[in-house]
Amino acid sequence: MDPQDNVIFSEIARSPDPMESERTDLRPQTFDEYPGQERVVENLKIYTQAARLRGKMLDHVLLHGPPGLGKTTLAGIIAQTMNCQLKMTSGPVIERPADLMGVLANLESNTVLFIDEIHRLPSHVEEVLYSAMEDQRLDVMIGQGPTARSVSFDLKPFTLIGATTRAGSLSAPLRDRFGIVEHLDYYSPQSLAKIIERSSKILNISMDTGGAMTIAGRCRGTPRIANMLLRRVLDFALVNGKNGIDEEGAQSALVRLGVDTRGLARMDREFLRIMRDRHDGGPVGLEAIAAALHEERTTLEDVYEPYLVSVGFIHRTPRGRQLSPSGTAHLAETERMFGPQF
Ligand code: ADP
Repeated sequence: MDPQDNVIFSEIARSPDPMESERTDLRPQTFDEYPGQERVVENLKIYTQAARLRGKMLDHVLLHGPPGLGKTTLAGIIAQTMNCQLKMTSGPVIERPADLMGVLANLESNTVLFIDEIHRLPSHVEEVLYSAMEDQRLDVMIGQGPTARSVSFDLKPFTLIGATTRAGSLSAPLRDRFGIVEHLDYYSPQSLAKIIERSSKILNISMDTGGAMTIAGRCRGTPRIANMLLRRVLDFALVNGKNGIDEEGAQSALVRLGVDTRGLARMDREFLRIMRDRHDGGPVGLEAIAAALHEERTTLEDVYEPYLVSVGFIHRTPRGRQLSPSGTAHLAETERMFGPQF
């Protein structure tokens, strides 16, 4: 492997989250261990089965949806199901066309190449993917000026899985080269409760249905947040000398963590408060909210806003973001229950 690949490939084959490898791995390894996203999972089961029956690689897959919903996990499951090795990298670390050519040229046969945040590949780098995805070929320009010529190399069979939080930022030529495009949406509380119960078993915690449903209702539809809250709730139980988690234990720990009855954390509420207190509910541009929160606009767009929009607390309008009546009511209710600083 080229030394450059050490930078470009994630060292942690199964997880791009550097903390995850130090903890017990909660990532499902098979489709059957992966609750929720039923339609996506059913489709992927069919596509992988059909590819196996044909004895061919799976077509390239684009997974899009908010962070923490299981795109990376699905890439691992697909690779496992197809008996392929998995190589992981991400858009921001591939800066030059030569980096991506190196990655593609070094792929062994039957590899699933996972590119996280694929929308962040620079466009001159992205173009390298076109012939690689379509014809399994790399076109390389050698020399410059009138003597320049193009040389083609065949690549070994591979499946590209691209993950993105913003399908709309992908160029049309790249998007069109994915034969399978699936959208992941926020999970239902029932699916999240199953995930929490599974994680509790792996972490060896006794968890009753009330405890699981309480965490499930407050993790913003997101398994990554569910697992994070579970670990923190477990900390409280441990320190309080409890040997399991029930509804009451989960509820009091979540309040201590600043998580309200709809799963909003302090940052989400600050988002709403800035709209209410400084902009009279809006409409207000995202730049102004980002400046007040000392956050990047893209972080608000990718991490905080989608859930606030999905529960109807914020509306996107042509003139900016607007706080909805239900957002205003939720904020008032939370402040009444837990105080204005909560
Ligand atoms: P993404 O790539 O979409 O940001 P990940 O695949 O990294 O999300 O998932 C985040 C975490 O949530 C993982 O550590 C995994 O354990 C957990 N997770 C995601 N989806 C599921 C699921 N359907 N079932 C169980 N755990 C899940």
